[in-house]
Amino acid sequence: MRPAILNPLFAPATVLPGVGPRTRPAYERLAGPLVVHLLWHLPSGLIDRRHAPKVAEAEAGTTATLTVRIDEHKPSPDRRRPTRVHCSDETGALTLVFFHAKGDWLRRTLPEGSVRIVSGRVERYGGELQMAHPDHIATLDERESVQTVEPVYPLTAGITPKPLVRAVRAALATAPSLPEWIEPRLVEARHWPPWNRALEAAHAPESTADLEADTPARARLAYDELLANQLALALMRRSARRGRGRAIAGDGRLRARVEEALPFRLTEGQRRAADEIAEDLAQERRMLRLLQGDVGSGKTVVALLAMLIAVEAGAQAALMAPTELLASQHAATLGALLEGSGVSLALLTGRDKGRAREETLAALAAGEIDILVGTHALFQKGVDFRDLALAVVDEQHRFGVHQRMLLAGKGPAAELLVMTATPIPRSLVLTAYGDMDVSRLEGRLPGRGAVATRAMPLERLDEVVAAVRRALDTGARVYWVCPLVEDSETVDLAAATDRHERLQETFGARVALVHGRMKGAEKDAAMAAFQEGAADILVATTVVEVGVDVPAATVMIVEHAERFGLAQLHQLRGRVGRGTTPGTCLLLYALPLGETARARIAILRETDDGFRIAEEDLRLRGAGELLGTRQSGAPAFHLADLAAHEALLATARDDVRLALERDPELESERGQALRTLLYLFERDMAVRYLRSG
Ligand code: ADP
Ligand code: MG
Repeated sequence: MRPAILNPLFAPATVLPGVGPRTRPAYERLAGPLVVHLLWHLPSGLIDRRHAPKVAEAEAGTTATLTVRIDEHKPSPDRRRPTRVHCSDETGALTLVFFHAKGDWLRRTLPEGSVRIVSGRVERYGGELQMAHPDHIATLDERESVQTVEPVYPLTAGITPKPLVRAVRAALATAPSLPEWIEPRLVEARHWPPWNRALEAAHAPESTADLEADTPARARLAYDELLANQLALALMRRSARRGRGRAIAGDGRLRARVEEALPFRLTEGQRRAADEIAEDLAQERRMLRLLQGDVGSGKTVVALLAMLIAVEAGAQAALMAPTELLASQHAATLGALLEGSGVSLALLTGRDKGRAREETLAALAAGEIDILVGTHALFQKGVDFRDLALAVVDEQHRFGVHQRMLLAGKGPAAELLVMTATPIPRSLVLTAYGDMDVSRLEGRLPGRGAVATRAMPLERLDEVVAAVRRALDTGARVYWVCPLVEDSETVDLAAATDRHERLQETFGARVALVHGRMKGAEKDAAMAAFQEGAADILVATTVVEVGVDVPAATVMIVEHAERFGLAQLHQLRGRVGRGTTPGTCLLLYALPLGETARARIAILRETDDGFRIAEEDLRLRGAGELLGTRQSGAPAFHLADLAAHEALLATARDDVRLALERDPELESERGQALRTLLYLFERDMAVRYLRSG
């Protein structure tokens, strides 16, 4: 149960002044549905109203708080012209300007002959000093409430600054003083204020320096959020580990056989990763391991060796991929590697219907299938394994934590191996997985051709086409990836079909097209044509991004490269240079090129180390954007900014580890405070993993 002390914060935002049924949706969009969400909505700027000059000293273009006598109202002569209110002090005259003002309201607020305080932006028109629609109009005894520094908040349609400031103030007033959950020595060393004082300070910047991420107030709040994140992950992980694990060990027979038949030797990195996994599986506790490796770093065979351990032990394994394309490719690759081994492998995707599907499911339940490869279809109802011991999830960032769990839930105590070809920066590994065990495959595989990366403005398309022709003459195969248009599959599609047609005019039937809207069979046909060489140009939307393996493809052209993220471009580039021939990656960009896009291209030309690229991507884009919050399972933070607060994350992780060592069930005084923290950041789920949750 949520501690009662937090209840006021978890009331709907509509209890706040100015947030009503009409504005509620806008507030929800902006911050969230609850009072607490307004606390997390920190100011992005400020307006200093402390400056209170005489009228003659007021500077045009600045915000000023002026004390003036109201001399005369000049009502608007027609609707298009404003009402003007002439005012003055002993040094000069000021005209207040109001469009569409209700006359009686103006006369009541600004009675002729009275003295009023007005605060707002002053401008000079002709010789006249004006203030249009003052932000504040007050009487002399209200001076203190006007002459302040006002926070400026990010807005959304339907919300104006003044009511928002008022609502946030009211939310702050409900913030109780809470027991300290941070390690006391840390609070002291960093001079961090207590929680509610930190909030107040963060919402009351006095200068732009107070808006920086590293002020004690903002750093503390960020730390709170990271601490909640790390604590929740640690608890979830502990619980997953506690679940009746099972020791899975094979006799190595199948592995030896498959390894012997491989057309290559495992690299040291692959061997190490395979050993780490085997060791995990052999232990009683449950495995939760992340296999990180760049595109084409050879993760598949490592996964296969892991799955073979399950099979050797008489159980089953599953491999889940995010797209049908990838799933069927995995099935084909693995099927080939398993030839003659006696291991039975089947493919299950959303495309399987009716009889075929029934048969697969029956064989699976009977244990006649050893390894099942598929898409999301794998964790649907009705898919029952006889004995699933290991679940492997490929391209993990495309699945949420929940989906991962669903698949693992298909076995009584299934071990989990997740693989990603998006090298995730350390900080994101921490936020998305806590201290999940990580195996990394670094460096390129032996015998791989390097990829030369060039960038060129789109205007030089003719040259590009000529270069493609030359490449085709030498037997090259070419990927041509079309622009990514944010949130618009339709436009993506149009761009790809358009390019396909145009290239067909030049190259005829050698150009194939593949995009996300195609039916599975069509997609496969196009991919197969490219794979087999019947087509030597493949125009694609970003469906080729993940995992596709055509060793003969040596040229990658990306149109509108400036619209792609760094990691994504790196992934695309990884599609070529997979064979022994060196590859070429051509990034076509539209002019003018923005600074970030320029930086991205420069980094890509400089390095092909996926881990380095991932760190740079984080720096350039910020964590939220990096993996796509929804897909990654990486949480979106309100208060923490991973680019700025990365160091705090490691501290939070260590803090959590220590706290749980001392007080595993969070029962001490600080333990209770940490529970409150979990509730505060809506990590209630994690509390359930505690004994007396
Ligand atoms: P990833 O899944 O990490 O992107 P893959 O597992 O698909 O990479 O491997 C890419 C290619 O490299 C495949 O064609 C695979 O057969 C090959 N490969 C894997 N391991 C090795 C190795 N040790 N030496 C040479 N080639 C390898
Ligand atoms: Mg792969």
